[in-house]
Amino acid sequence: ASKRAGKGRCTWFTAEFDANRAQTRDIDEDLRQALVHDQFSLLYQPLVDCDTARVACVEALLRWHRPDGKSIGPDVFVPVAEQSGLILPIGLWVLRRACMDALAWDEIMLSVNISAAQLRNAEFPVQLGQILEETGFDPGRLELEITETCLVLDPVVAERSLAMIRNFGVNVVLDDFGTGFASFGFLRQFRFEKLKIDRSLVEEAETDEASRAVMLSSVTVARAMRMKVTAEGVETEEQARMVRAAGCDQIQGWLYFKAMPAAEIGKYLNRPLDMASIYLGHSSAQA
Ligand code: C2E
Ligand code: MG
Ligand code: MG
Ligand code: MG
Repeated sequence: ASKRAGKGRCTWFTAEFDANRAQTRDIDEDLRQALVHDQFSLLYQPLVDCDTARVACVEALLRWHRPDGKSIGPDVFVPVAEQSGLILPIGLWVLRRACMDALAWDEIMLSVNISAAQLRNAEFPVQLGQILEETGFDPGRLELEITETCLVLDPVVAERSLAMIRNFGVNVVLDDFGTGFASFGFLRQFRFEKLKIDRSLVEEAETDEASRAVMLSSVTVARAMRMKVTAEGVETEEQARMVRAAGCDQIQGWLYFKAMPAAEIGKYLNRPLDMASIYLGHSSAQA
C-alpha cells in the first residue's frame, strides 16, 4: 500500500533505494557468517527419464538456513553473493558437498548450478579438478548447469573455461533456455551436452501457439545436435504429455518430485517409479 501511495515521489524512491542497499549489505555480511557457521545445505531434485521412468539425474539446489529460523531461497541470495564475489567460495562448497553426497548414487548423474562469476574466475577449472580428485567423484557423472548470462558477458573467457571443464570429462548444460536471448547460435557455438527448457516456456507452451512452436523447434534443434533435453518445472500431467510428445528426454518438476534432502534420494533409485509410470504411460493404470 505504501508503495502505491509513494509512487512518483522522489523521497520515496530515495528511501526505497537506500533500504535496498542497506539490505544487500546486511545479506552480504550474513552470507559471510553463513559459510563460517555452516548454515548452507543442499537439496536434490530428481529428473525422470522419459523412456525408462527412472531417476536419471539429480540437481543440487542450495538452501540457506538463517539463525533466526528463516530459510532464504537462492533466487534472493545468489544474486547478492554474485555481486560481492562470495559466490566463489559458496560455489566451491556446493560442488564439494554435492560430489560427496552423490558418491552414493552411482548409477545417476549429478547436476550442479554454476554462476557466471564462477565461470569467469580463471582459477575455477583448477579448483574443479581438485574437488574431483579429492572426492573421487567420476567427472563423467557430473553436469555443470550454466546460464546464457555466462556466455553473453564474456564469450571468449566462457569458451576457454568450458574447454578446460570438458577436458576433465565433465558435461556442460545450458539452463533456463527460452527465457532470454540464448539462441540457436549459442547452441552451435558451445555444443552443450544438455539443454534445459525453462519452466516459463513449458508453461506458456501449453496455452500459446507461438511459445509451443519455440519449444518444439528448440527440442528438435537440440536433439539434432545430439544434446539431451530436459523440460523444467513440469507440474501437470498435461505438461508432461506435451513435453514428452515434443521429444524431451527428461522431465524435472513438482509433478514427480520436489527437491529433497540427500538421505531420501536412495529410495527412488534402481527401480522404475510408480507415479512416473502412470503419467508417462508405462502402465495401463489410470490415476
Ligand atoms: P534452476 O537452476 O532453474 O533450478 C530450478 C528451480 O525451479 C529450483 O528452484 C526448483 O526448486 C524449481 N522447480 C523445480 N520444479 C518446479 C516446478 O514444478 N514448479 C515450480 N514452480 N518450481 C520448480 P530453487 O531451488 O529455488 O532455485 C532457484 C534458482 O537458484 C535455480 O534455478 C538456480 O538458478 C539458482 N541456484 C540454486 N542452487 C544454486 C547453486 O548451488 N549455485 C548457484 N550459482 N545457483 C543456484
Ligand atoms: Mg539449474
Ligand atoms: Mg533451470
Ligand atoms: Mg530456472
